[in-house]
Amino acid sequence: MIENTTFDPEKIRADFPILAKKSGTRDLIYFDNAATSQKPRCVIEAIEKFYANDNANIHRGLYHLSATATSDFENARKIVAKFLNAREPRECIFTRGATEAINLVAASWGRKNLRAGDEILLTQMEHHANIVPWQIVAEETGATIRVAPILPDGSLDVAAWKNLLSARTKIAAFAHTSNALGTKNPVRELVAAAHSAGALALIDGAQGAAHSRIDVQESGCDFFAFSGHKVLGPTGIGVLYGKVDLLSAMPPYQSGGDMIEKVDFAGTTFRGIPERFEAGTPNICGAVGLGVALEYFQKIRAGAEAHESALLRYATQKLEAIPSIKILGTAREKAPVISFVMRGVHPSDLGTLLDTYGVAVRVGHHCAMPLMKVLGVTGTVRASLAFYNTFAEIDAFADALVEIEKMF
Ligand code: PMP
Repeated sequence: MIENTTFDPEKIRADFPILAKKSGTRDLIYFDNAATSQKPRCVIEAIEKFYANDNANIHRGLYHLSATATSDFENARKIVAKFLNAREPRECIFTRGATEAINLVAASWGRKNLRAGDEILLTQMEHHANIVPWQIVAEETGATIRVAPILPDGSLDVAAWKNLLSARTKIAAFAHTSNALGTKNPVRELVAAAHSAGALALIDGAQGAAHSRIDVQESGCDFFAFSGHKVLGPTGIGVLYGKVDLLSAMPPYQSGGDMIEKVDFAGTTFRGIPERFEAGTPNICGAVGLGVALEYFQKIRAGAEAHESALLRYATQKLEAIPSIKILGTAREKAPVISFVMRGVHPSDLGTLLDTYGVAVRVGHHCAMPLMKVLGVTGTVRASLAFYNTFAEIDAFADALVEIEKMF
């Protein structure tokens, strides 16, 4: 049943030029939003405006143009801080994305603080970006990785996760929202439990930032990582949020220009945060674009969330009505992500056939190979929705699936 929401996706769609595109002869139905979101016109225009009017390197120039670029960049940091409800903008470090943000913590905090016998607590639903950096630092330091299981519906087994916490746990790193299943984790509860055990908590917010209100003070997390391109912003820009005391005590991750106080061949001293973690020329225009994206998103977010929930319920009902389809990940708290398999059809074949109907979905392991092993599949088809998707697109998607089902 199509639910009535006051949010008007047709009006919103007009802000996204790419959504008017054809895929071959068909209308493009973009259901790969978990991989990257599309960009509203205001972001595209902000990028053009920056390079046409404001471009200069930041922090170093004494001339007017450099001062403007610097203030654009630092203003973007303020917008990010507001988006996350960070206490101060300097708690927000610009990175290339969530991947680099997690690598930064694993390499900088991890190398300094982890020892043999210490434990890093992960979950079975993690993206490779929240597994591999921890494996590398575990190998270097002798720390051990523990992995909490999921339940059959794809939600985290919170009781088992809590049982794995102990005085040995130094950090618990978990997804806010699973990219492969859509499961939203009870992050506040997990952070509180990690803290009671004396561990830090890192939230991989790559998916969460696009589908939930984020409040780092409310969740109490120590670190939060996200990517701009999944929240309407450009690629190549992301953020690591960290508490001031923790970030200030961490050694540099990368080094070079802009992060130093004084360099001498006898030794170098480093600047405070955030500059200490932003070596070299950053993605200035990316940060500016991200700021514009987050401001746009914040204006529409409440309606967007309700519309996405209605889309998820509608798409789930439609797919459940197709006998050969099995949805993987049916947790009660879910982002609009539907992972599924069709009996007798390889996910890659299904993805290729859907493309002929103009439907863009992702197939494969979704950078979560350990999760696929737990689910007993080599891959799934993933339809990941956004607030600019419509009920009519879901109808067209479901009709295509019914036609494909008949081919096999
Ligand atoms: N974590 C999760 C849950 C993700 O979905 C992704 C992107 N698919 C990442 C981390 C990594 O994000 P990025 O590639 O933008 O660094």
